[in-house]
Amino acid sequence: MLTLSRRSLLASAAAAPLAGLAGAPALADVAKAGPSFARHRRFSIGAFEVTTILGGTTPRENPQGIFGTNVSSEEFAEVSRDNFLSTEMSQFFFTPTVVNTGSELVLFDTGLNAQATTAALAEAGYSPDQVTIVVLTHMHGDHIGGLMSDGTATFANARYVTGQAEFDHWAAAGNEGFDMNVRPLADQMTFLGDGEDVTSGITGMAAFGHTPGHMVYRLDSDGAGLVIFADLANHPVWSLARPDWEVRFDADKEAAAASRRNILGMIAADRIPAVGYHMPFPAVGYVAEGTGDAAFRWVPEAGQLMS
Ligand SMILES: [Zn+2]
Repeated sequence: MLTLSRRSLLASAAAAPLAGLAGAPALADVAKAGPSFARHRRFSIGAFEVTTILGGTTPRENPQGIFGTNVSSEEFAEVSRDNFLSTEMSQFFFTPTVVNTGSELVLFDTGLNAQATTAALAEAGYSPDQVTIVVLTHMHGDHIGGLMSDGTATFANARYVTGQAEFDHWAAAGNEGFDMNVRPLADQMTFLGDGEDVTSGITGMAAFGHTPGHMVYRLDSDGAGLVIFADLANHPVWSLARPDWEVRFDADKEAAAASRRNILGMIAADRIPAVGYHMPFPAVGYVAEGTGDAAFRWVPEAGQLMS
């Protein structure tokens, strides 16, 4: 119906006298621009300014090849249908977070590659040389991919912070991404354990499972809080409603599920906002206790953080 009425609108516009004048733009010639939205989102948590930046987004086929690998296709289809999700295609998002504490500019994770991440940073008004601390929540390729640009450090003035257990695991296990992006910067890294601070007001919390040393980070400023939960949960429904569904990318599936229940439970109980690296952009929301069979529910921010 929309198409029909738009066509008839265009037809009547074309028939109007002005539309026939030389040089008048033809309405039908405007090219479709494709889906779009702002690539950054900024808000305050106490005295901290937090900006999420979209480093990339891509569709992937066959989501049950990733989420709910241990449940029947019927169960996956039912939960998906209840939440208006396709079982054939899912959209993935990759969202680093910038925190301006007033004395440090902290970047959490570096995206898939330096080019996309620095472009997203620029759109948000920051240059790579302003970043003073880069925090790596864990060392999968979509989080460490932006550390180096053609063999040099992308964030020239930054020091680096990551979990001790995470670094130790990959330093021993090795992989191409680690060797290319992390190893050259190891001298400038400091390593955290559970409950240790990146800087005043930013505390690391062990959330092992997705990777052996995966950590999440809690911000606390002037009585306000927020948790950057990285890959603790990789989908707003398949991970939050069903934290025990196995995820292909979780190295230790049992530990990952236990971490999800633990940290999501804490965020829900504290009623503080959260940022999830793979939540739909702008990746900011709240975590509620679920109802029925759902363990938790992702509640996208709806203006609460705008003032
Ligand atoms: Zn990831």
